[in-house]
Amino acid sequence: MTELKALCMKCRNAENKPTMQVMKNLKVEEKNGRFSAKGQCSVCGGNQFKFMSKVDAEKMK
Ligand SMILES: [Zn+2]
Repeated sequence: MTELKALCMKCRNAENKPTMQVMKNLKVEEKNGRFSAKGQCSVCGGNQFKFMSKVDAEKMK
């Protein structure tokens, strides 16, 4: 399975901006032909969400 990174709203850098973190327990969902991934931040365990292209979604299977 490919590693996916998404913005984590809880893991912020020195400028107080969200940072990209590896998503774990990710689930790919399809809704109305649009793909998204839901999972948890591997650093803080906070919820993460990311829209994906169909091509990227296929890679996660
Ligand atoms: Zn985090």
